Amino acid sequence: MLRNDQLAEWDRETFFHPSTHLAQFARGELPDRIVKTGDGVYITDREGNRLLDAFAGLYCVNVGYGRSEIADAIAKQARELAYYHAYVGHGTEASITLAKMVVDRAPVGMSKVYFGLSGSDANETNVKLVWYYNNVLGRPEKKKIISRWRGYHGSGLMTGSLTGLELFHNQFDLPLSQVIHTDAPYYFHRNVRSQSEADFVAQCAASLEELIEKEGADTIAAFFGEPVLGTGGIVPPPEGYWDAIQTVLRKHDILLIADEVVTGFGRLGCMFGSDHYGIRPDIITIAKGLTSAYAPLSGSIVSEKVWKVLEDGTDKLGPIGHGWTYSAHPIGAAAGVANLKLIDDLDLVTNARETGAYFKQALKDALDDIEIVGDIRGEGLMAAVEFVQDRETGARFEASRKVGPAIATALLDRSKVIGRAMPQGDILGFAPPLCLTTEEADTIVEATRDAVKTVAAGL
Ligand code: PMP
Repeated sequence: MLRNDQLAEWDRETFFHPSTHLAQFARGELPDRIVKTGDGVYITDREGNRLLDAFAGLYCVNVGYGRSEIADAIAKQARELAYYHAYVGHGTEASITLAKMVVDRAPVGMSKVYFGLSGSDANETNVKLVWYYNNVLGRPEKKKIISRWRGYHGSGLMTGSLTGLELFHNQFDLPLSQVIHTDAPYYFHRNVRSQSEADFVAQCAASLEELIEKEGADTIAAFFGEPVLGTGGIVPPPEGYWDAIQTVLRKHDILLIADEVVTGFGRLGCMFGSDHYGIRPDIITIAKGLTSAYAPLSGSIVSEKVWKVLEDGTDKLGPIGHGWTYSAHPIGAAAGVANLKLIDDLDLVTNARETGAYFKQALKDALDDIEIVGDIRGEGLMAAVEFVQDRETGARFEASRKVGPAIATALLDRSKVIGRAMPQGDILGFAPPLCLTTEEADTIVEATRDAVKTVAAGL
């Protein structure tokens, strides 16, 4: 076996890590953990540290680590047929079976699924489908896309533009000109308790409509949104938000893309976030939970309404000029089939709902008396704790004090629990595997109380 120091040396010499401060990594200032194995909600590194992963990797290992059912399905597929493409009507047993399973589980009105590899490429596909849709309908001007500040939709050129976080824009001359942003449904941040939730929702809908009218509805093709904001801070929408937004979109004939890369396949305690919030999307983006990250696979679930136009369009414009070599890769598809079976067999959607409710309540019980805890929120097995300098006004800590990252570090160092310091604001995020038990939830909660109290005492 390779020595740890040898691997660490090669790592520094040759490995370009994504989303990493490269200079700090080179100087050895980042925790360069080399992860070796995983079982259930735990991962173990090469030094033998066993860590409770309360973020399921990047909220993707939904069935938990070490599931032999999925590993066996991948091995069987690799032996029988590692690859064949899906172009010009080709398919494999695994890809067709997975398409059927996905559409059967999808909200009403959804019809077909196009498979990609990552959440980012699926959203790139969605933008192209929407543009194609309007070209077929003879509306070549109706192309702009609206997404929300704090939204996350990927880090490609178009999807990095859709993402509403400055870090993803400033370094790369983004957003592209076709993308415009509207308000985030971030009630806690906005209200500072002087505006009612209903007024805030009305304001979000009004400012969306104002934007549409300013740009011209005949120039706007689609609106992208996550049912619950994820990377932007784990923010469930205020009551009535999605109804109000959909009313505006329908009025102006704007398609709705529900980005369910995080929320799809059970995370919120129902199969899709769209079901939970009464969203009737035209397209749904899926990835992470589709295979629980056992293999890279994503998808765009297309509604019958959009599908009809696409299908008719090919008679006018010719075959769809869009596809990846690895679209519907059989190994990813085999992983997806085994994963969705496991979610059913273990009833993980119910567990996400029930253990999620238990977890959120336990966080509230354990943390509410700590002065710097400004908000505890969540839905299913997605939760966040937001820290503030002043509870009454909602005033934040100076970003340079890095209170959120310090709490995540204390959690890891003191209790070997992984939470995620969300990139904007002092927010500690949790999105554990959907198989989390109440005992494991208690462990996370106790560790969080300890970490928050420790950091708060030093402020
Ligand atoms: N959409 C959402 C909602 C996401 O959270 C992510 C990734 N965190 C993506 C899209 C992009 O997925 P990927 O990183 O697989 O490209």
